[in-house]
Amino acid sequence: MTTRNVICPGCGACCDDIRIDFIGNGNAKENENEDSHGLIIKNACKMGHAKFLQATSDQRIRVPLIRDHQDRGKSRKASWEEALEKAGRILAIARRPLIFLGSDITCEAMQAGLLLGEYLGGVVDSGTSISDGPTVMGIQEAGQVGATAGQSKIRSDLAVYWGANPLESMPRHMSRYAVYPRGHWTRRGRFDRTVITIDPRKSITAENSDLHIRLKPNTDYELMSALLTLLHGRSPHPSVENVTGISIDQMNEILEIMKGCNCGVIYLGSGIASCNGKHRNVELALHLAAELNEFTKFVIGPLSSNCNTGGFNQTASALYGFPFGLDFSRGYPRYNPGEYTTVNLLRERDIDAALLVSSNLDAHLPATCAEYLAKVPTVCIDVIPGPMTQFADVVLPGVIDAIECEGTLHRFDGVCIYSKSIMDSPFSFAASNEHILNQLFDVLLNLGVVSGQKQYQYNYRALPNC
Ligand code: SF4
Repeated sequence: MTTRNVICPGCGACCDDIRIDFIGNGNAKENENEDSHGLIIKNACKMGHAKFLQATSDQRIRVPLIRDHQDRGKSRKASWEEALEKAGRILAIARRPLIFLGSDITCEAMQAGLLLGEYLGGVVDSGTSISDGPTVMGIQEAGQVGATAGQSKIRSDLAVYWGANPLESMPRHMSRYAVYPRGHWTRRGRFDRTVITIDPRKSITAENSDLHIRLKPNTDYELMSALLTLLHGRSPHPSVENVTGISIDQMNEILEIMKGCNCGVIYLGSGIASCNGKHRNVELALHLAAELNEFTKFVIGPLSSNCNTGGFNQTASALYGFPFGLDFSRGYPRYNPGEYTTVNLLRERDIDAALLVSSNLDAHLPATCAEYLAKVPTVCIDVIPGPMTQFADVVLPGVIDAIECEGTLHRFDGVCIYSKSIMDSPFSFAASNEHILNQLFDVLLNLGVVSGQKQYQYNYRALPNC
């Protein structure tokens, strides 16, 4: 059987042209040389390919696991009901649990997680706080002159990658949306487009660009300030050349290209948000794009490489008014990045339990934070085993959202995409991560009455399915 136009949840590009061929019953390998596991995936990049293969992987977590502290902390298999109740008890007795919702889950699951966090009076955070948080904050400060990926694809003849390396983080971005497609001003595709990369590293994207501006690390703010000064018809202080490593002539050259294009797009990567200046860099970049509109059409947008990072920001903002790092300990949502965000909470040892949903936190946390996380009772909902599931007290098998269940994803440009499932969940006990979180909520509702450990004074909204 063949399924066409499948949406890939591998990264923020959400490519919607994937073709999946199912061989046999979906378990047999096609041949000995190809690790296809019953699936032949066409059009996807390596990352997307790996994402789809998770569904039939031998490595997959298929049964709930509970850490047995009386057996030297070894994990043992458990029934779904037992694992769910244990997870509920861990969260029920916690005074300030952290609910971390990874970027691989749908907006529906994120909503369920947010409601759970509100009910528990915990802190709900997402991948945004460890990757694109400064970008979101910069947009809140300065506003965004934005466009959808389709508009950029059709109109733009200049692509500027600032602190971004899409050829590795979002492999099909250039070929589907930004550089190679033909458009209104770019009848010959790549030949009619100019690509500038501004990055201290000589990345693979930089090598494939027409111009690589190799500024010194952590000097993005200074370079943008100098560009804005030149744009205003003044000369920046000559010391900016030493600070940034870029000559004023070269800055003028960049500006001439920018002012001379028909339509330009600046793609902001996590490089600009993670260096000195953080959200102030993003804020200045947004001002630069806005002011370039005095000369030509210019738009700007974040290139969030994780699949549904934007989905959490949108869902949390719609429900509570804040995009990430929401603290419900006082019964109403509070937002203070740097205080209620995952790394800060762990560094300050300010949580006493954690629920990690598709978190992949091991790739991002500083060692001291990971050490503390390993000490507190943790519930993990995940698809593939990793360091987080190794030390979790309860591991619940996760469903691969947008592959095994339908749901909403937000593409890197903020466009909402509804993905249909291409196969059913392999578990009889859980249809989706949203379903798992709702079941956990039901367990908590029961425990809340019995234990009396918490005072449920919160304004819980009884939405459908909760
Ligand atoms: S670029 Fe991203 S969305 Fe597209 S196929 Fe690759 S991983 Fe999937």
